[in-house]
Amino acid sequence: MDIIIVGGGLMGTSVAFFLSRRGYRVILLERRFVGQGATVASFGNIRRQGRYLPQLPLAHRSRALWGEIRDLLGEDVEFRATGHLRLIHDQGGLEDMQAFARAALPWGLELEMLEPTDIRRRFPGLGPEAIGASFSPEDGSANPRLIAPAFARAAAVSGTDIVEEAEVLKIARGSEGFAVETTKGRFEADQLLIAAGAWGARMSAEFGEPVPMRLNGPQMAVTEPLPHRVHPVVGVWARERDAGVYFRQVERGNIVFGGGRRVNVPWKTGFAKADPRVLAVQLPHLVRLCPALANVQVIRTWSGPEGYLEDMLPVMGASGKVPGLYYAFGFCGHGFQLGPGVGDVMAELIATGDTTTPIGDFSVSRFRDQPA
Ligand SMILES: Cc1cc2nc3c(=O)[nH]c(=O)nc-3n(C[C@H](O)[C@H](O)[C@H](O)COP(=O)(O)OP(=O)(O)OC[C@H]3O[C@@H](n4cnc5c(N)ncnc54)[C@H](O)[C@@H]3O)c2cc1C
Repeated sequence: MDIIIVGGGLMGTSVAFFLSRRGYRVILLERRFVGQGATVASFGNIRRQGRYLPQLPLAHRSRALWGEIRDLLGEDVEFRATGHLRLIHDQGGLEDMQAFARAALPWGLELEMLEPTDIRRRFPGLGPEAIGASFSPEDGSANPRLIAPAFARAAAVSGTDIVEEAEVLKIARGSEGFAVETTKGRFEADQLLIAAGAWGARMSAEFGEPVPMRLNGPQMAVTEPLPHRVHPVVGVWARERDAGVYFRQVERGNIVFGGGRRVNVPWKTGFAKADPRVLAVQLPHLVRLCPALANVQVIRTWSGPEGYLEDMLPVMGASGKVPGLYYAFGFCGHGFQLGPGVGDVMAELIATGDTTTPIGDFSVSRFRDQPA
């Protein structure tokens, strides 16, 4: 085999798809079932506003792939370029939006800046107290429950061997490549990619490359279905963490929302349990964005285990120590938008030794002084 991929979330399945299209023989090992980690829990926001600026080239490449995703994968994963509206309620938010909009322009992201009258006219019912907003018309959302299984199915059609319920127990590097012990037996390949989400940190540490990883869960909720009226994804520019709530309405009518404080997730179980106190804090901020939601029933809350590095950037690229070893993990709550781009760029790196999109800022080597 050419390469083993550890982890069947959005990143692992996406890299598998793009590598198998380049003719690579790929085995993907997933301890549970494809897409059941952070990916399935995601809000599904395909957002470029507010991103770390040097990440925008990767985000643009990914956004272009989202636009082709139905043709690439042969199925509808509910990608919709509805636009992403971010409302502003105070001077701090206005200053942050203006600074970001100015700085993002040379990076190829152009935001529309809206006055209150524009918001009322274009988005009636949203942000009645807003003093302004920014709108990113090409962004939107997709369905987090569909995307990783769709990438996995398409990768399998191109020849990837997807092995589910195969927990990786031990990885060894020998002169012939990598040998991986799992609960379903032993697998060998010339190269190896660690795409195990938050658990990628434990695996990189085994190769002498520890990174400072925390395990947290953003908290989400969904309401009963309502008539479909809200088209864009709606968020806010807010300095206060609890106010950072966002929502979207799916075509079936339910409002999905999340944001604000994250829950702690125990490493032992990896189970991210929603906290009712977080919901109580989210609700008034949600209603401020859209007052018509004041009397709507919330029918479910959830969270998911996501890996956060201390600088809030992922680990992506080649190992600094072990030839043939690659990483794509720890996407700090913003990996859904990046998923197709990560797959394409990592496949390019593995196949050609370089990338046309810069990813140097995400190198594991930035943590080379991290204690083991
Ligand atoms: C609640 C929530 C909301 C989010 N909302 C957004 C959003 O709106 N927009 C956005 O851009 N991003 C969002 N994100 C972030 C985004 O979902 C993640 O960054 C992305 O899905 C990470 O994908 P991944 O493949 O790296 O990780 P995962 O999906 O966690 O996949 C890693 C896989 O590795 C497997 N694995 C781990 N250890 C082993 C092992 N030993 N052996 C075999 N397999 C193993 C796991 O079972 C898992 O399936 C959100 C995240 C959460 C949790």
